[in-house]
Amino acid sequence: AAKPAGTHKWQLFDFGNSIVSQRRIKIASALKVAIEREQLSLYLQPQLHLDSGRVYGAEALLRWHHPELGVVPPSEFIPIAESSGIVFELTEWVVETGLKQQAELVELLASHTLSLNISGKDVGRKELSVQLIELINQYALSPIQIVLEVTESATVDNERTLYDTLADYRKIGLRVAIDDFGTGYSSLAYLSQLGFDKLKIDKRFVMDLESSKTNQTICKATCDMAHSLGSVVVAEGIESEGSYRQLQSYQCEIGQGYFISRPLPFEEYKAWLQRMIDVEDVIHYLTS
Ligand code: C2E
Ligand code: MG
Ligand code: MG
Ligand code: MG
Repeated sequence: AAKPAGTHKWQLFDFGNSIVSQRRIKIASALKVAIEREQLSLYLQPQLHLDSGRVYGAEALLRWHHPELGVVPPSEFIPIAESSGIVFELTEWVVETGLKQQAELVELLASHTLSLNISGKDVGRKELSVQLIELINQYALSPIQIVLEVTESATVDNERTLYDTLADYRKIGLRVAIDDFGTGYSSLAYLSQLGFDKLKIDKRFVMDLESSKTNQTICKATCDMAHSLGSVVVAEGIESEGSYRQLQSYQCEIGQGYFISRPLPFEEYKAWLQRMIDVEDVIHYLTS
């Protein structure tokens, strides 16, 4: 774009910025009542074992339906919730709702595994592990079938306590995944010292895997390194059969993406799961 004169540029910037901050303020205050007004829901995105094509489980993804703002994406409201100090209420709601759903889902598929996203601001909170233990006992869930997804950037923020925190979760038997791997600055060598069970390759490297030689190299190298560190690899953003096949060839264990299914409301996910439980190879089934 052409460079406007100094004053003009400042006016433009200031104008845009004030709209952005007005929206942030509006979102922050509307979020405070979103739970009690029952505007939140968890969508579940199916995950498959890439070697067999069998169902592995699902990732729970938070959705917010506001009567005026419409569907606000989590990429917009989670950072606002984090900076305005209300994200823990959301996390508590996600954990409570997610584990209740998991209790229903293991009735359908005993091995069903549920992954939950935990804000880097909350992962170190004692109340969170207390809540998790209580719900696991209440629903008699197997902790090894619950994965906590923590982002790489969160690991940098809370470096001091994260090692102990993750160790505590893993002592309970919960699984820990590093989400969005490759988008931050941490090296795998650094992350491996923290201790985690799964590494999730960010979708930006996966979405165009079929056509991008660079991303093929990155995904293959990530799989090789993660495997030699004893970790399982999960790929998100699989949008085509070509990408799916590439990841299979790198021995990437688990995958999710629009090629398999979009995130689904709970009842729709249950129906999907019921259809797929006894299917030997979901991909073969979906493409034939
Ligand atoms: P994430 O945890 O990395 O989740 C994966 C995102 O990729 C989801 O976006 C999902 O809908 C999207 N996705 C999955 N498959 C594909 C695909 O094939 N193509 C494309 N283009 N996208 C795909 P979503 O649901 O908008 O969530 C965005 C982010 O918001 C999440 O990234 C996560 O960081 C955060 N988030 C979502 N739910 C929660 C939550 O309950 N708590 C917290 N703290 N954060 C959450
Ligand atoms: Mg995630
Ligand atoms: Mg991710
Ligand atoms: Mg991501």
